[in-house]
Amino acid sequence: MISPRLQLDSIAVHAGREDLAELGVHALPIDLSSTNPLPDIEAGGLSYEAMAGGGTPYAEGGAVYGRLWNPTVARFESALARMELTEAAVAFSSGMAATTAAILATTQETGHRHIVAVRPLYGGTDHLLASGVLGAEVTFCTAEGVAAALRPDTALIMLETPANPTLDLVDIRAVVEAARGVPVLVDNTFATPILQNPVNFGASMVLHSATKYLGGHGDVIAGVIACDQEQAAALRRVRAITGALLHPLGAYLLHRGLATLPIRVRAQQANAQRLAAWLSTHPSVSRVHYPGIAGDAQGLLHRQMRGTGAMISIDLRGGLEQARHLTSAVRLFTHAVSLGGVDSLIQHPAALTHRPVAPEARPPAGLVRLSIGLEDHEDLMADLDQALAARRPAAAHEDASHR
Ligand SMILES: *Cc1c(COP(=O)(O)O)cnc(C)c1O
Repeated sequence: MISPRLQLDSIAVHAGREDLAELGVHALPIDLSSTNPLPDIEAGGLSYEAMAGGGTPYAEGGAVYGRLWNPTVARFESALARMELTEAAVAFSSGMAATTAAILATTQETGHRHIVAVRPLYGGTDHLLASGVLGAEVTFCTAEGVAAALRPDTALIMLETPANPTLDLVDIRAVVEAARGVPVLVDNTFATPILQNPVNFGASMVLHSATKYLGGHGDVIAGVIACDQEQAAALRRVRAITGALLHPLGAYLLHRGLATLPIRVRAQQANAQRLAAWLSTHPSVSRVHYPGIAGDAQGLLHRQMRGTGAMISIDLRGGLEQARHLTSAVRLFTHAVSLGGVDSLIQHPAALTHRPVAPEARPPAGLVRLSIGLEDHEDLMADLDQALAARRPAAAHEDASHR
């Protein structure tokens, strides 16, 4: 075990690697076994039973089968848990698989079927909850509406902060207080453990779409939930029977990426801060959504976060028409969904990531979301400037007609 007193940047580089020197290797090992030789029926059977029950394999029994447990995945989980200040973490084949497991685990364990979901949420999460496919009954509400939305059979409260795509901040501690003991899951994808640790404010589960900042290079689809041992066991039980374990190559890439997560996030954030300030003076932009800009929620920002992050949304004066031009005219930014990577992306939430969301909760047609990468900030500004100039809106009143 590395010293618990290390700073976050040191933990990012060293966590989950404690035994490597002992093994005589320096890089993270990858175990791709889909099945594992069994010593004998008894030890193998006991190991199987331990894992199906949400535990880890018996040393003598081995991992048995690659859907139940994998040592490369477990290494990444232990590192992420250190960074999120939790006892454990459980990794999944996608962020949505992680969300599914959180809903199934909390509803199955308690026999309660009700979920409270604070909007706005990532479009896929909103869609999953609204679809009813997992058998849960969902009440959507605002952060202030959580207390009123609670029922005796509420199993879980879900929120996202900063939220996708409006960058709204939600006061985690206030929601936890309103939750009266019901577990609160915080989607920490946008902030990352570098800028925010939700457990410091009473959250009991911290979810990441690891596809985004944790991976950081646009080459892994993954999800992870950091939580206590008891919740981790429930999540592993669901993961084993639903077959949602993360592939070991993905876990390797994520673990490798953790080492640079602190510097990536801070450098992308420095770029984003410059771009947000510049965009807020741009004639084509009517509003910039970025934590802390224009004095928004300054108190909460400083209480809850260690930075403002690298996601920006903008409202365009030219509405949908200008969004169409902007996303097609960029050259350095890539017009693509997803976020959090080293290269900058731009996308239109109402048409894409938030398309399945109910009309009343869907982002406006003139809103475009930017994920700021590691390019030179002046190159990014020049690209946006030329793409915004591709068609300057005739007048501000166009705005309303496109909403
Ligand atoms: C992308 C995303 C998800 C879903 O994760 P996948 O890895 O795409 O399944 C969940 N929450 C947020 C905030 C996201 O951006």
